[in-house]
Amino acid sequence: MEIKNVGVWGLSNQIIEKFFVNRIIFAGDSAHSFPPAGGFGMNTGICDVNNLVHKLLMINKGNHIQILEKYSQERRYYALMISELAMKYYNKSMEIPRNLGMNVDNLMLFKNGLDSLSSVIST
Ligand SMILES: Cc1cc2nc3c(=O)[nH]c(=O)nc-3n(C[C@H](O)[C@H](O)[C@H](O)COP(=O)(O)OP(=O)(O)OC[C@H]3O[C@@H](n4cnc5c(N)ncnc54)[C@H](O)[C@@H]3O)c2cc1C
Repeated sequence: MEIKNVGVWGLSNQIIEKFFVNRIIFAGDSAHSFPPAGGFGMNTGICDVNNLVHKLLMINKGNHIQILEKYSQERRYYALMISELAMKYYNKSMEIPRNLGMNVDNLMLFKNGLDSLSSVIST
């Protein structure tokens, strides 16, 4: 077996300041990234696009492009709520390794080790 590429996924919880900047529209993971606990990432992205399509239709019917500011505000509001919920679920999920007597800090050490290993493999 030949390994063509190695990528490491990093957990993050980030939300872009504005989903609409200088005529550039952000949706999905380009706008937000949550811990996977709760299964919110893709679902939130789909909701972004659902909202966006409605706004684009309104622009097509004569509304000003600035209506996309509303898209930005509405979706950021939800992203903030979802980010809080995802963190809550993530912290809850960490109770499993803790209750098994594992040190969560050691898990981070393990992850950092994997990160270093992948950079060695991919060079
Ligand atoms: C472990 C894990 C579990 C998850 N479980 C769930 C779940 O249960 N439920 C849920 O809703 N979400 C879940 N997610 C999150 C979900 O996978 C993402 O939120 C979703 O895939 C994001 O979709 P996206 O289209 O915004 O971005 P992406 O899926 O990242 O798509 C972006 C695409 O753009 C392409 N691309 C990048 N740069 C360029 C370029 N310069 N030119 C052209 N193309 C480019 C990439 O190759 C990629 O195909 C999970 C994520 C992880 C890591």
